[in-house]
Amino acid sequence: MSLSRQNIVTYSPAYTLVPTYECFNRCTYCNFRTDPGKSPWLTVAEAKSILQQLQNQNVCEILILSGEVHPLSSRREAWFQLIYDLCALALSMGFLPHTNAGILSFAEMEKLKNVNVSMGLMLEQLTPKLLNTVHRHAPSKLPEVRLQQLQWAGELQIPFTTGLLLGIGETEDDWWQTLAAISDLHQRYHHIQEVILQPHSPGSQQTFDAEPFNPHQLPEVIAKAREILPADITIQIPPNLVKDENWLLACLDAGARDLGGIGPKDEVNPDYPHLQEQRLRKILHPAGWELVPRLPVYPQFQRNR
Ligand code: SF4
Repeated sequence: MSLSRQNIVTYSPAYTLVPTYECFNRCTYCNFRTDPGKSPWLTVAEAKSILQQLQNQNVCEILILSGEVHPLSSRREAWFQLIYDLCALALSMGFLPHTNAGILSFAEMEKLKNVNVSMGLMLEQLTPKLLNTVHRHAPSKLPEVRLQQLQWAGELQIPFTTGLLLGIGETEDDWWQTLAAISDLHQRYHHIQEVILQPHSPGSQQTFDAEPFNPHQLPEVIAKAREILPADITIQIPPNLVKDENWLLACLDAGARDLGGIGPKDEVNPDYPHLQEQRLRKILHPAGWELVPRLPVYPQFQRNR
């Protein structure tokens, strides 16, 4: 990518629209979901009013982040159409949509490609043993199903964001195996633009009773990930989940180069407010880092869009 200068850290000025918080999965670390039918869906009219307020506010990315309606539910089609319509609306108003709506059929993914500049899905961890613990009631977290999503995105040539959730009961070897699988798929399809390394950070809604992932361990994981992943995949860390400024800088020294979407609220980790741009600059600048906004589609993919 063109931003190859060593002292540049990127972020995406973003706003998150949530079509629905309802999700038929019940991951025990989740701080996002409600039960099916328990929260109203966002309407296109409400979204339009939000987006109108965002115009001229330097927001570029609209992250469409949704809980999942079961693939066999009679409401699945309406759910998908709402997501499609929100993306089309954002595009028509000059924003760049990036959708992460969980597991999609190939046909759904193919349709969403037309109204998104990139898409995303966390691989989280490939080890099947989590199906007996945090993912016991989360059919969408079957490792082979998630790997297939990354493969379909590759076949469809969709610029893609994925990542690992760290500290949900996996081992260190599990990290390296998950990273190696991402690397293999990228070498086949060249479509992964960034890999998020997200430390488990307990929130007020979750039932999973575990310590937060030790942020002091993160630089070590980043350094090894940098060795495993191809050089054209950027490593992203969420700065609101790495509270200590010195460790945030250590993460950059270890090879992280992106801070993800920065907006008013982290919908996945609502207990951890985003550090806003000015605050981040104050941390990064004295250490010699330049914070630069980026688009939700990385430069190497823009010629294909
Ligand atoms: S983590 Fe995602 S898939 Fe799991 S329950 Fe929450 S919203 Fe659903």
